[in-house]
Amino acid sequence: MADAADLTAHLVDLVDHHCHGILTADLDRPAFEGLMNEAVRAAPLGTTLFDSTLGWAIRRHCAPLLDLEPLVPADAYLARRTELGGAEVSRRLMGAAGIGTLLIDTGLGPDGLTPMDELAALCGGTAYEVVRLERLAERVLATGSRSFPGEVEDRLRAARKAGAVGAKSIAAYRVGLELPATKPSDDELRRALSRVDGRRLADRTVSSWLAHTAIEVGLPLQFHVGYGDSDLDLLDCDPLRLTAFLRATEERGVPVLLLHNWPYHRQAAYLAQVFDHVFMDLGLTTHNTGALSTGVLRETLELVPFGKLLFSSDAYGLAELYRLGALLFRRSMSTVLGELVASGDATSDDAAYVAALVGRENARRAYAL
Ligand SMILES: [Zn+2]
Repeated sequence: MADAADLTAHLVDLVDHHCHGILTADLDRPAFEGLMNEAVRAAPLGTTLFDSTLGWAIRRHCAPLLDLEPLVPADAYLARRTELGGAEVSRRLMGAAGIGTLLIDTGLGPDGLTPMDELAALCGGTAYEVVRLERLAERVLATGSRSFPGEVEDRLRAARKAGAVGAKSIAAYRVGLELPATKPSDDELRRALSRVDGRRLADRTVSSWLAHTAIEVGLPLQFHVGYGDSDLDLLDCDPLRLTAFLRATEERGVPVLLLHNWPYHRQAAYLAQVFDHVFMDLGLTTHNTGALSTGVLRETLELVPFGKLLFSSDAYGLAELYRLGALLFRRSMSTVLGELVASGDATSDDAAYVAALVGRENARRAYAL
């Protein structure tokens, strides 16, 4: 029988297919809490974000790497973090994550985030770029280029040639996920561009054109889905809204990857089952649900084909989130698969095989790494 420890041995050298830069500078408590989750304020109405499953997970799993007892109070954790310095803390936490490959969304500020090569060095792994479409389009508009479509396509092709392995759409943040099945014509795109604020593109025609174009260029396309900060309308981020787009793009065979998904992870699992080219992950849901992330993974595994689920930390800002994303993923996979082996519903070889698929092999296949 495969126990949790056995399976953890198969969840090594992870491919983190969606993550971001971190801040290695020293952080005071408001700055630290400001990066913990998607809330706007660090201490809503006099409470603290440490009073959450995420806060407990930081105290439980990150404190020992800072030479502290598990579950020390948050103040003691942050004092030790300051004492060691942000750079040393990042080195320890990311070095312990067990991530061998990172696919980094480079389109999210602020300045001061670690660049790709530095993140790779902190993990002792290899980094690849994922291009954020709306950001690239905003940059092209800022240059005043007369041929927006040609310039965007050229830049995507150049990025691919330079080693970028995917593109990311943040249509969810800008217009929701109801994207048309057919690519807007150049005329429709021109009319849309004439009415938008080019500094923050929020237009259905433009987001749709960008998503279709990335697929035409052959770049695996990530979509932000579900859970995110308060400038999205979560109701409009149900991945079922993408159904027409997915049906229309399936024949091209370019992977579409649904990110985070909570609370729509069951819907995403369904889409991954019925569309050949659809993959999914749980992203930041894992570290945000802490010790209870096992329940979310269990619900996801109800339906998702094992070859369609990917690992990602979706870490941003704090090295703690790399450590937690990887550790909680290992733990919840080991728990759920171990239960299935214990109940006689799978062999330990089955469980080890699925652990390797989800931990790294599915990402390698989807992105041709
Ligand atoms: Zn993200």
